[in-house]
Amino acid sequence: MTTNNQALVIKSPQSFNKESVPIHPEVKENNARVKVEFGGICGSDLSVYKGVISHARYPVVMGHELYGEVAEADKHHLFTKGQKVVVQPNIACGECDLCRKGKKNICRHKVSLGVTDNGGFSNYVDVPVTNLLVVPDDMDGKLAVLAEPLAVVVHAFRKISIEEGESVAVIGCGTEGMLSSILANLLGGEVNAVDINQEKLDMMKRFQDIHSGSPSILEEEYDHVIEAAGTPPSVEQAFDIVKPGGNVVIIGITDGDVHFPARKIVRSDATVFGSIIYDFPKDFQRAFDFLKNYPDMFTPIISKIYPFSDYEAAFETALSGRVGKVLLDFNEEE
Ligand SMILES: [Zn+2]
Ligand SMILES: [Zn+2]
Repeated sequence: MTTNNQALVIKSPQSFNKESVPIHPEVKENNARVKVEFGGICGSDLSVYKGVISHARYPVVMGHELYGEVAEADKHHLFTKGQKVVVQPNIACGECDLCRKGKKNICRHKVSLGVTDNGGFSNYVDVPVTNLLVVPDDMDGKLAVLAEPLAVVVHAFRKISIEEGESVAVIGCGTEGMLSSILANLLGGEVNAVDINQEKLDMMKRFQDIHSGSPSILEEEYDHVIEAAGTPPSVEQAFDIVKPGGNVVIIGITDGDVHFPARKIVRSDATVFGSIIYDFPKDFQRAFDFLKNYPDMFTPIISKIYPFSDYEAAFETALSGRVGKVLLDFNEEE
């Protein structure tokens, strides 16, 4: 039985601490207890840190991109102790009109771990069994952490169909933009990825088949435009560069007003999609397929791994905006 559970608790924006958070001795019905091994710091963790998500709850245990091992099975033994799992961190109500239509990603009463309820930057986290997925054998845990952010891209790409040789522009080279660029490239697209940050562009140079540079390199029209920067100018650029008959898929979360060129979109018969999170487990399973088949493509996305005790440095690095994915490693002495 576990007695000591250290968790990263944020009390109010910019004020967080690693502290002891007791966990119930008994695992609730239909939950399993996961011993967390690796956690990925996501843009939404940074938004919770900065205090820019209006519906975020404080205090809350941070973190939602989680890989670990089942420490205590659920009562119905759907999972067994020792299994390696990842967590689907959005808990749908299952009852609203959208859930009943099978659209749990846009559930009206969705609870998001690490944002509106306690997440899993902690030694242990209890998770409903419906939100756990067993990791394929032999998959590196650090790579498995990417299943959640990659599932976001897998879901977005289901809206469109990238054919061999089609042109794809990806605006923004944060984690989601990098993952979008790699996936579009693997699907046969001719990818141009842009960012305003030179360090991120330097990272993109590892991917020889992906052309990268500053936003000004996007001079043509593209069959598919993926907006992953989440700023008004980048959304407007996406509308500007879509080819007649092409698609814009917006996955960046944009604050502020965007000028929507309705006339151009109508006259060019273009399609604009929004896409949020994923369908579980199918988008995670497809993400696992890509991670398993192309580990060398995805591993470079992980820029730095910090032990849990160095959470402040880890967040500082992630907040710099100059790196790919930053991971926390929970496999330290307790
Ligand atoms: Zn995330
Ligand atoms: Zn619902």
